[in-house]
Amino acid sequence: MARVRDDLQQLSGYHSPQVDARVRLNTNEAPEAPSAQMMQRLCDRVSTLPLHRYPDREATELRGRLADRHGVQVGQIHVANGSNEVLQHVLLAFGGPGRTAVVFGPSYQMHSQIASITGTTVIDLGRGSDGLINEADLGDEVPRDVVFVTSPNNPTGRVEKRSTIVDHVLPWCVEGNALLVIDEAYVEFSMDEYVDLIGTGHPVLISRTFSKTLALAGVRLGYALAGADIIEGLELVTLPYHLSALTQAAGLAALEDTSELDDRVAMLVRGRDQIVHAFSQLGVEYENSHANFILFAAPDGRGDELWQQLVRRGVLVRNCSSWPGLAGRLRVTVGTPEDNAMFISALSAALKEMT
Ligand SMILES: *Cc1c(COP(=O)(O)O)cnc(C)c1O
Repeated sequence: MARVRDDLQQLSGYHSPQVDARVRLNTNEAPEAPSAQMMQRLCDRVSTLPLHRYPDREATELRGRLADRHGVQVGQIHVANGSNEVLQHVLLAFGGPGRTAVVFGPSYQMHSQIASITGTTVIDLGRGSDGLINEADLGDEVPRDVVFVTSPNNPTGRVEKRSTIVDHVLPWCVEGNALLVIDEAYVEFSMDEYVDLIGTGHPVLISRTFSKTLALAGVRLGYALAGADIIEGLELVTLPYHLSALTQAAGLAALEDTSELDDRVAMLVRGRDQIVHAFSQLGVEYENSHANFILFAAPDGRGDELWQQLVRRGVLVRNCSSWPGLAGRLRVTVGTPEDNAMFISALSAALKEMT
């Protein structure tokens, strides 16, 4: 009998339950579809694509637009099917059997998940009591080949101090010959970006996505910014023609006009305030978030029960209760003002029923 690898059988996989719900606030997507203008630009581009041919293997035009956007060279950009595939390429090239990935949990679970799939050992150094990376945990003896930092962090929404990254984590990576991966999926909400570290000889890779503020989760497009030598490493493990012509067209259509982005971020920040205000009124404990989601606590650690109560009222949030260090916690994505109002009223009713 064919059998999958023993080490894979122990992995539980990563599944956000796709429950049918009227209000879906569980995966941190943008709450509204891309504009009609954006869809028209996309259709115009797609209608003339020579789809009988393989796509541009190097995605030169798309990478060029991204390089312009960030003020770097084309050779410092790698594109892939979502930033999850970027992370997979990173771990295939810089991780693997005999190598170690370091994470600071609780954080984005896909970092350790993809590390395990690629046979990379995972070390979780955890966080200090303030929820941020603890410099004292960066010991000389910790093996490290790839080090993952997420800022703003998912699911807490916390932003790491710049001094922690630049003065402590980065030198620690240099000493250990490790690659520092900074996951900036939510950077538009904090404006605390690290693009300035690219191209200065630092072992740093920044991963970005079109899935969140760019409102294209359905397209599956992400990219990396890093020194050209690091990008060349990623290309070694990338399948030929991995990024379809359709995906490249969608990315180009989106980058033609990003003026909607600021309005979207502003709307989500207002929505976050709306939810936080309700949490205060309802006496719900929550984390101060710098992203489009908020981690909050169920009464008496009854996370599963509160999640069920919300589902019953047509609102789907992320149940993080069973994740290490997050007992009794749920994460709500900020939606449209209407979504948020439905969430707040469902939460209020659920809490009443639970007392
Ligand atoms: C949502 C998210 C991503 C996005 O992954 P894609 O594959 O680009 O959709 C990446 N990193 C973090 C921390 C996220 O929360």
